Amino acid sequence: MADTFDVIIVGSGPGGYVTAIRAAQLGMKVAIVERELLGGICLNWGCIPTKALLKSGEIYEQLDHLADYGLKVEKRGFDFDAVIQRSRKVAAQLNGGVTFLMKKHKIEVVMGSARLEKGQGAPTVVVGDRRLTAKHVILATGARARTIPAAGLEPDGDRVWTYREALTPKAAPKTLIVIGSGAIGIEFASFYRALGSDVTVVEALARILPVEDEEVSRAAHKAFEKRGLKFRVPANVKKLTKTKSGVAIEIEVGGKSETLEADVAIVAVGIVGNVEDMGLEALGVKIERTHIVTDGHGATGVPGLYAIGDVAGPPWLAHKASHEGVHCIEHIAGEKPANLNAPIPGCTYSTPQIASVGLTEAQAKEQGIEVKVGRFPFRVNGKAIAAGELEGFVKTVFDGKTGALIGAHMIGGEVTEMIQGFALAMTLEATEAELHATVYPHPTMSEAMHEAALDAFGKVLHI
Ligand SMILES: Cc1cc2nc3c(=O)[nH]c(=O)nc-3n(C[C@H](O)[C@H](O)[C@H](O)COP(=O)(O)OP(=O)(O)OC[C@H]3O[C@@H](n4cnc5c(N)ncnc54)[C@H](O)[C@@H]3O)c2cc1C
Repeated sequence: MADTFDVIIVGSGPGGYVTAIRAAQLGMKVAIVERELLGGICLNWGCIPTKALLKSGEIYEQLDHLADYGLKVEKRGFDFDAVIQRSRKVAAQLNGGVTFLMKKHKIEVVMGSARLEKGQGAPTVVVGDRRLTAKHVILATGARARTIPAAGLEPDGDRVWTYREALTPKAAPKTLIVIGSGAIGIEFASFYRALGSDVTVVEALARILPVEDEEVSRAAHKAFEKRGLKFRVPANVKKLTKTKSGVAIEIEVGGKSETLEADVAIVAVGIVGNVEDMGLEALGVKIERTHIVTDGHGATGVPGLYAIGDVAGPPWLAHKASHEGVHCIEHIAGEKPANLNAPIPGCTYSTPQIASVGLTEAQAKEQGIEVKVGRFPFRVNGKAIAAGELEGFVKTVFDGKTGALIGAHMIGGEVTEMIQGFALAMTLEATEAELHATVYPHPTMSEAMHEAALDAFGKVLHI
């Protein structure tokens, strides 16, 4: 086995494996190093297995509403182990898919933990007793759950879980506290609530899903409460202690102390980059708040060394990791790389779903932009009425001076499938003229996107 490559990629998540494929397409000789499973967190422990669980939860929850559709079932129930096994099977299928893609593109997969040492040009990558060299080394080592040991928020795999344990428990907890109301926390809260757990979500910031537009956060809070989720917002976790049967969490809400008890706590308070034990300090790699600092193209400042994806900082999203990786390798190859400033949509796959791209109304105003805002509720959209998906709305934010679409925010059924329309519009720098002139198929929920764009300019049709 030759140990010299054009590029070595460390980490095979959506950042690393997609970069490897693009590098191979560009004619490079590529190796990818992985210490755990091909596909990284996304395919094995993140995006994909959570969506499999959420689908089971969503179907089960819908059984409560069969009568609305003129249907009935006599008896309902679930086999929790089968729900978990389906999710693991889905993850395994995708892991197999990445193995196939690596073979197809003749990418050498090196299993093991990579360490870097100073090399002739780019650093040498040491994996076990192999010393791999390349013109370029790209770190795509991802991130892991943040824990706060001082407050007792240290996972023990038994009563205190991170996403890893939450994906493969033996049984659904009867009572559950989710600490953190970002996308990951809310998705687990939705799943376990759908299967009947009593779930309380604790959020330190002023509102749940704090990165979303305020109106969407508020609507989500209401919709989730309707499904039985409980919230403590804003609430600071002071201490988690283990009790005989579960956990007790001391929180402070509005200056008052309160203790919540549950069988299990899920800690979803952010992530930290995987930057340790690779020899990065000795190479002089700049690390800020657990993330590798890079220039606009992924370069770390150390000759021949690049970083992309979660390890290179937020937003911690799979599609951002892939996009950054493709940009980085195309830049290395001297190609005209994909625009790194393209807007990055973000989604939460709860019921109802949440999706957004670009600036919130508040962010736009903070930047001094004179905004024009449009809204359209799904409750008056024909397809939504037919489907019984009445919750939620579409909100558009335009620059009032130029007419450019600068943000879009949605809550409702299947909005995660629709946000791409607005992401494309923003990438193409569309203004209201193009959005108004676009023809939307009828009947679809996407017509609400059209109406929200019309509403911002006083032209809404169906209200
Ligand atoms: C529960 C959960 C749900 C999520 N849902 C979504 C979602 O719906 N949509 C979305 O966009 N994002 C989601 N994310 C985030 C998404 O998973 C990450 O943004 C994405 O995986 C980042 O990709 P990456 O390639 O940078 O890193 P990762 O996917 O983390 O991959 C890094 C890989 O590097 C390997 N590695 C690390 N160090 C070394 C080393 N020294 N040597 C060899 N290998 C190493 C790791 O084993 C890992 O396989 C979710 C995350 C979680 C935890």
